[in-house]
Amino acid sequence: MIIQLEEKLSAKRKENILSKVNAIGYKTNEVRTHKGDYLVCIGKKEFDIRGIGSLEGVLDVHRVSESYKLVSGKWKVNPTVIDLGDGVKIGGGGLALMAGPCSIESEEQVKKIVDHLVKNNVRIMRGGVFKPRSSPYAFRGMGMDGLKMFSKVCRKNGIKIITEVMQVSQVEEMHDYIDVFQVGARNSQNFNLLDALGKVDKPVLIKRGMSGTIDELLQSAEYIFSNGNERLMLCERGIRTYETAYRNTFDLNAIPVLKEKTHLPVIADPSHGIGVREHVAAVALAAAVAGADGIIYEVHEKPEEAASDGQQTLNFLESEELVKRLRKLIS
Ligand code: PEP
Ligand code: MN
Repeated sequence: MIIQLEEKLSAKRKENILSKVNAIGYKTNEVRTHKGDYLVCIGKKEFDIRGIGSLEGVLDVHRVSESYKLVSGKWKVNPTVIDLGDGVKIGGGGLALMAGPCSIESEEQVKKIVDHLVKNNVRIMRGGVFKPRSSPYAFRGMGMDGLKMFSKVCRKNGIKIITEVMQVSQVEEMHDYIDVFQVGARNSQNFNLLDALGKVDKPVLIKRGMSGTIDELLQSAEYIFSNGNERLMLCERGIRTYETAYRNTFDLNAIPVLKEKTHLPVIADPSHGIGVREHVAAVALAAAVAGADGIIYEVHEKPEEAASDGQQTLNFLESEELVKRLRKLIS
């Protein structure tokens, strides 16, 4: 059960609500975000919900039986819209585009990609400076110096930044240079990181783990929300299956299913989703038809020279073509 509390509730009224909920055998968790105050109540017993709804200080009350509560679409009918400022919004209709290289490599590389994005009216740039790599000998990213440069070039050109945060200690140092924190597939269940991201005032995109279920993804998002941050979006990026003909299996099913289960924006990552450059556009288009709120994909001036994931990265021509096709599709 989720209880939405009135703003600036007196301690006495809150105490009364808590004791009534405890009396019906439910445990309470208090959640405060920049948007509202909630009580997430966990229990199994049957009770008359009207008894709670009529208590003073209760704005609304909803029964949510799923393991995840605050990210469920059951209590919040209106979709969550993430406003990054300057007219850049994600969710609530339309298709948000985020594009950029797998890794930030140099100022020259960033400038060229920013020019490409500006030209195509793509307002959000992706690019990792902390790269989770299977091999410790592979390029692991430019780190904070790279992020500062990336941020400077983007801010100058009105482009918003999404980039991966790998550990709790990076959250604070990255904060001022980014617009959206990305939680990678490998950190989808790094609960300490999720807790920390619940305490920041910036949106978070959380990727599905490589072998994560839909339910686990939603519960990971619940970690962040229940810690106080409801500016969240979910990302399908392909899962590991027995198939070896491509890098990952993009789970198209996840798009409509997530859209049904949650009010959060659902983003598709066709680049990691299939991992094969020639087929990235087909997967992106399919995800848009399936109802995705946004597409995040990899683009580089010279994919064959990219420091990471070149095999799934579009060149500028392919990227321009994809943007045109996506916009035509949703218009
Ligand atoms: C990335 O976005 O470059 C990345 C590492 O993605 P994922 O976490 O989905 O593998
Ligand atoms: Mn990548």
